[in-house]
Amino acid sequence: MNNGNYDYKHGVIYYNYVIIYYNYVIIYYNYDIIYHNDAIIYYKDVIIYHKDAVIYYNNIHSAIFAAAMTNNLESKVCIIGAGPGGAVAALFLAKTGIPCILVDKATFPRDKICGDALSGKVVSVLNKLNPNLINQFNDLPIQLNSWGINFIAPNLKELKIPFKLNYDTRESPIGFISKRLDFDNFMVEEVRQQPLINFIEDVEISDFILENGAWNLITKEGSLGIKTKLIIAADGAHSGFAKKIGGINLEPKHYCAGLRAYYKGVAAMDADNFIELIFLNDFLPGYFWIFPLPHGMANVGVAMRSDIISKKKINLKKMMMETIANHPSLKTRFKDAVLMDEIRGFGLPLGSKKRILSGNNYMLVGDAASLIDPFSGEGIGNAMKSGMIAANVAEKCIATGNFNKDFMHQYDTEVYAKLWSELQLSARMQQLVKYPKLFNLVVNKANKNKVLRETIICMFDDLDIREKLKQPSFYLKLLFSD
Ligand SMILES: Cc1cc2nc3c(=O)[nH]c(=O)nc-3n(C[C@H](O)[C@H](O)[C@H](O)COP(=O)(O)OP(=O)(O)OC[C@H]3O[C@@H](n4cnc5c(N)ncnc54)[C@H](O)[C@@H]3O)c2cc1C
Repeated sequence: MNNGNYDYKHGVIYYNYVIIYYNYVIIYYNYDIIYHNDAIIYYKDVIIYHKDAVIYYNNIHSAIFAAAMTNNLESKVCIIGAGPGGAVAALFLAKTGIPCILVDKATFPRDKICGDALSGKVVSVLNKLNPNLINQFNDLPIQLNSWGINFIAPNLKELKIPFKLNYDTRESPIGFISKRLDFDNFMVEEVRQQPLINFIEDVEISDFILENGAWNLITKEGSLGIKTKLIIAADGAHSGFAKKIGGINLEPKHYCAGLRAYYKGVAAMDADNFIELIFLNDFLPGYFWIFPLPHGMANVGVAMRSDIISKKKINLKKMMMETIANHPSLKTRFKDAVLMDEIRGFGLPLGSKKRILSGNNYMLVGDAASLIDPFSGEGIGNAMKSGMIAANVAEKCIATGNFNKDFMHQYDTEVYAKLWSELQLSARMQQLVKYPKLFNLVVNKANKNKVLRETIICMFDDLDIREKLKQPSFYLKLLFSD
């Protein structure tokens, strides 16, 4: 331990019962200072005289926070993660006039491993935020309009299902495909235009301490302290907050591993940009996908449930490359295709099980709340929807001054009221897809039977029709129909 003056970055520190002038902060302390990895840690009886407040700290965590006080920020709401879930939460808060801090460990534009398919749910949330947004997005060269899905059954029979009956490509599209590098940045550009959102990039939140009804957030670099009443944790599939505070741990039966590869020059892509879900025996109940992208690119990938990967000891990347090389139709389509980037993987926390999504002074949003559709792997729409609901609940918390877990529980109620029946149905469909013969049967019949085909088309919009898929009678009728 040194004695005397010390010039540390921008400040002058006098210690042993003296004063530290440090970026507008004056600190009196009674005990010692430890220098550790170039950061200063104060412990025991630290008093900070900030220009706006006098704060007394008496434990090491608070003192670490105090060390970051040189650059302290405070807001009623802090959102961790500026992916689609976090960005939408911040934008809806700004729309209602509530300021917030939005912090992300990345600098945007940043990549996110994904299939890059944006469903009708994304469009519906964007329209609620600002009806002009979707037109602005549609005018940019970073996206393709998508008009449907092509399901390919294990017997290689195709079933083309448009998102809408008798669609017209001159109308507004229902789905889009856009690299997440571009789509997430499009959302972040909206964020940047909102003065009520204090958007901080390149700062990773590493710890969270709830004390006297407020959170102290500590950053990995120790460079910044954030104090807030309410955390909206939208920090994705590997959320540290969901694990540490929310008690949500990875459950292999309710989790998928996914791989993404960007290719150029894949042959025989659909003229109306239908996305392709290829259900191959080896990957069931997961699938192989090819989604078209602008500039002749394609997003190619596979996803499989983590428990099946461990049980069958599968090397997913090897299996994906072998499928591309050997599958009878894929090998022709990929003959001249060029891999543009390394193949990268990421987790998909599935919403096939209900979780506790909130607690004292926090809500979990998007992948942090495990809300990915267990059949389709779609998570962007649910992340945005939960972000919108979180902003709405935050508004009520602020209005009433109530951040207690019983009050916050309305968030869980609302999220599951909107999403649970759909998630549950998709979980059942995921189970059915395990049986290749049944899958082949549905595809064969639907190709022959116009009514069944139209039923499946409507299924994407109409939950009542999807409900029929749960009933054994549906399959009996299917079996005996022409
Ligand atoms: C292989 C694969 C394919 C997929 N395909 C599709 C698809 O085609 N369509 C679809 O709808 N969904 C798809 N998904 C799911 C989709 O990617 C997610 O559901 C979606 O990204 C969730 O959004 P989010 O905002 O919750 O989290 P994310 O988009 O993951 O954003 C989280 C943000 O938090 C930041 N962050 C994390 N930790 C911290 C921290 N400690 N401090 C500060 N910031 C932090 C990250 O930098 C990131 O920007 C796919 C997922 C995978 C893995």
